Amino acid sequence: MAYTYDEDGVMINYDKTPLVATNICPICNQGGKHSIENISSSESSNQCCITYKCCSCRKFFITVHDYPLGIGNSMPDLKTYPYKQIKIDIPEYLKNDYPEFYDLYIEAMTAESYNLLNAAGMVYRKSLESLVKNYWMKKLPEETETIKTELLSKTINRFEEPLIKSLAKASSWLGNDASHIVKRHPDYSVVELKKFIRTLFLLLAYYSVGEDAQHFVDNS
Ligand SMILES: [Zn+2]
Repeated sequence: MAYTYDEDGVMINYDKTPLVATNICPICNQGGKHSIENISSSESSNQCCITYKCCSCRKFFITVHDYPLGIGNSMPDLKTYPYKQIKIDIPEYLKNDYPEFYDLYIEAMTAESYNLLNAAGMVYRKSLESLVKNYWMKKLPEETETIKTELLSKTINRFEEPLIKSLAKASSWLGNDASHIVKRHPDYSVVELKKFIRTLFLLLAYYSVGEDAQHFVDNS
């Protein structure tokens, strides 16, 4: 099968329809001129498959393309295996102090990397609830039972810092959208939900560590 390779990826002349394949390795996320080890096609399933060896990590990955069926020059579907690796970027402090949140957030990221966006959205929502509730139960241990059972919106309203409150509210609204059939904010997706939750947990970590430092200074 004839193909050419440039900065946009591989162009394969497959049944006279050019097919642009990925040039990003899903294992190490590096682009570049990966070595093509094999190209094979199956007419019975209307698919073709390219096996690469990454020019950076030297590991193998494959891309699978639906056969274009000769309809115009529209881009065929493209799948890459293995699935993209998730990059864990949660501060160690949160992993130790909020283990349930940490596990849920990693689970949501994993679902997202598999392109299971509905599942990812619901688990991101659950991770938000775990983070907010546990934050307040740590801060007000005597109110643990109340915080555990009250509505999430009520727990969010306990925050006084406006940016934290807005981030928690926005995350909760988009999390609700991810859990219901009718979306109130259809222009926003799991991408924004993750962005808001991520900024929220970074800000909470910032304040918590800052308060620890303040306590240390005040008592020294
Ligand atoms: Zn690689």
